[in-house]
Amino acid sequence: MIRGICRLCGEETDLSFEHVPPRTTFNKNTRYTSIDFEEYIKIKNPLKETPKGKKKQGGIGYNSFCKSCNSFLGSNYVPAYKRWVQGGFEILKNAEFYSHKYVIKEIEPLKILKHIISMFLAINGEWYLESYPELADFVSKPESKSLPDNYKIFSYITRAEKLRYMGHVMHGNLALGTSINCSEIAFPPYGYVLTIDFGDKIQYLNDITKFKEFDLTQKTDLKINMFQLPTYIPFPLDYRTQKQVEKDIEKNVKISERMERELESKNKNKTSS
Ligand SMILES: [Zn+2]
Repeated sequence: MIRGICRLCGEETDLSFEHVPPRTTFNKNTRYTSIDFEEYIKIKNPLKETPKGKKKQGGIGYNSFCKSCNSFLGSNYVPAYKRWVQGGFEILKNAEFYSHKYVIKEIEPLKILKHIISMFLAINGEWYLESYPELADFVSKPESKSLPDNYKIFSYITRAEKLRYMGHVMHGNLALGTSINCSEIAFPPYGYVLTIDFGDKIQYLNDITKFKEFDLTQKTDLKINMFQLPTYIPFPLDYRTQKQVEKDIEKNVKISERMERELESKNKNKTSS
């Protein structure tokens, strides 16, 4: 237990370990390496070198909720979330950019959406609750359907080649001059992106925010048309294939080598003159 502020009820208390995703959705014995972002971006080729980090096992999670909020999520939403995950695993393929068309029977969309949002609360810091209280409000009141329109949840199917747990970032696209305020989680078989104040669509991703329109215990056979996307790099909204990533890395290495050479020759010229 770690002392802190519960990201759901806001109380300062002992925080218990919350599995993200729930341990019953194949996150019981996950082995993984926890890497600092700064360490990661120092690496030239992340596909070949393994960054240094703490090796961990026993499932990925965060000390983010108090005991009672933890068990509230467990009894109210986790069973529905588990069914949704099982459906996703059944269709997961050894493929990238594959468009899955399928039906998951008798699922409870509102509970699933609430659980997904609770995972975003769990991976983000205490400030998140303070800045975006509507999220915790929506999760903590089971019957509530009021999630303001500036919050959107997108999803995709994924093998999560690299697991992705990106807390809140501004994802900038300098070329287009736009930026997306987002957070992303990818753990097989699904990836999720939470956007704030972003009104657009995101290519390949499904907007599942409409799950909030269902009643709490309303079950539905959901027709789904969802893309399977790769996640080789832990950055948000990056779905390049392994080949593309390799190509881009090669290009970057070449550019930086050229710059080094140019710098060297400049320095030589300086010293000789
Ligand atoms: Zn709590």
